[in-house]
Amino acid sequence: MTIGIIGQGLAGTALAWQTHWAGHEVRLFDRGLHLSASWVAAGLINPLVLKRKRLVQGAADHLACMQDFYALVEKTLGLELFYPGSIHEVLPDITAEKTWDELALSPSFDAFIGPAKPLHHSQLVGHKQAEVRGSARLRVTRYLTESRAFFSQHHHLEALNVESIEVLKNGQFELNTSCTVDALLLAEGYPGKWTQAFFGPLPFAATRGEGLRIAWEGAPIVDALHKNVFLLPEGDGSYQAGSTYAWDALEGPVTAEAREDILQKLRTWFDQPVEVLDQWKGIRPTMQDRQARWAWHPQHHRMGFLNGLGSRGALTSPLLSQKLLADLMP
Ligand SMILES: Cc1cc2nc3c(=O)[nH]c(=O)nc-3n(C[C@H](O)[C@H](O)[C@H](O)COP(=O)(O)OP(=O)(O)OC[C@H]3O[C@@H](n4cnc5c(N)ncnc54)[C@H](O)[C@@H]3O)c2cc1C
Repeated sequence: MTIGIIGQGLAGTALAWQTHWAGHEVRLFDRGLHLSASWVAAGLINPLVLKRKRLVQGAADHLACMQDFYALVEKTLGLELFYPGSIHEVLPDITAEKTWDELALSPSFDAFIGPAKPLHHSQLVGHKQAEVRGSARLRVTRYLTESRAFFSQHHHLEALNVESIEVLKNGQFELNTSCTVDALLLAEGYPGKWTQAFFGPLPFAATRGEGLRIAWEGAPIVDALHKNVFLLPEGDGSYQAGSTYAWDALEGPVTAEAREDILQKLRTWFDQPVEVLDQWKGIRPTMQDRQARWAWHPQHHRMGFLNGLGSRGALTSPLLSQKLLADLMP
């Protein structure tokens, strides 16, 4: 079967790998990775919502699936796709340490809560740090660009905007009046023009996120750290810091407010001045209830979609793409 996929962000790339492994012909359509939320994603794979001290729904299942999924992609591409190490929560004081230790007493959390240990990084203000067990950090841009190269070489990749979709009488789909596919998967992210046209309105509560790439003088930090923001070593002496959450003014260039918000939070980490090397922004395709959506069309039986991955696309796209395709594939 020839399967068309619109979008090659985290959702579309996971769908493409699953359809490839199932032995189908893949035709990927993506108008440009730099336009995707996935391109700016920090790649954190985190079973905990650290700010609210909550567990991601289905965290254990997502972690188990994503490990097998990315291991197989790594094997196929012959590449390392993860940064070394896991995420650590910085515990600024004894109260934070107590709250953290209490979480470990809850049976649903205990698998993910590492013990509080002395802060590894003498240049940081803080009390202790603790590992989020099972967490990891995907090298998202490497995963996306190398997957893109693989699908260009072994399948078909069209670097263009899909401007028309026609459902043919025999149930196939014609895209841009020139390309015919047997099944069509929509993985468009926000705002999901074709998904909303065929499946009706999606309950988006999309959030804008901004982040900084920074550097400073001093000993390198090796762990991916979280306190009031994430501080993530890039391995070249620079760090990603962020990101912000905003529900209004989704479009538009990066803002001075977001930059100052992150820098102000970083001032509680260490006293040194930091140099801002870059600032970036993206729109998370979040739903109002924070639940992703996937479905097959009630009339066009071979049209499906996956959207609403919110701020967890790296963790959830492997299992959700598998769930969607389970209904199509033998
Ligand atoms: C600042 C920020 C930080 C984040 N950090 C993390 C993180 O650390 N960990 C994590 O898991 N998630 C993170 N996320 C969330 C993550 O980015 C999203 O969950 C994920 O990218 C959603 O993937 P997607 O494939 O659904 O959408 P997208 O990444 O937006 O991909 C959709 C693709 O479809 C293409 N497209 C759409 N319509 C068409 C069309 N008609 N024709 C052709 N192409 C089309 C777009 O160009 C795009 O390339 C972050 C997001 C932001 C904004």
